[in-house]
Amino acid sequence: MKVRGPWKPGEAENLVAWQNCDWVHPFTCPNRGDGKHKAFAQTASASGMAAALERGGDVGVLAVHIDGFLCPFCAIRRTGATISC
Ligand SMILES: [Zn+2]
Repeated sequence: MKVRGPWKPGEAENLVAWQNCDWVHPFTCPNRGDGKHKAFAQTASASGMAAALERGGDVGVLAVHIDGFLCPFCAIRRTGATISC
């Protein structure tokens, strides 16, 4: 299933719940393997930001934006994503 912003009423809330769910893989930044995302998450952990940037040992978890997703590190924006069910 493909989802594409801008979000309809209720979709953003559901996507935030998906991104914070412990038993699904969140939507992540396509650049998360560059090493810089992990280094940033490790630095941010000292300031309490790690929960927003790292989950389950993974980094590059995207934030839900009003019309898509946003990477808090590299500011890459995605308007759509695919969910495999
Ligand atoms: Zn990124």
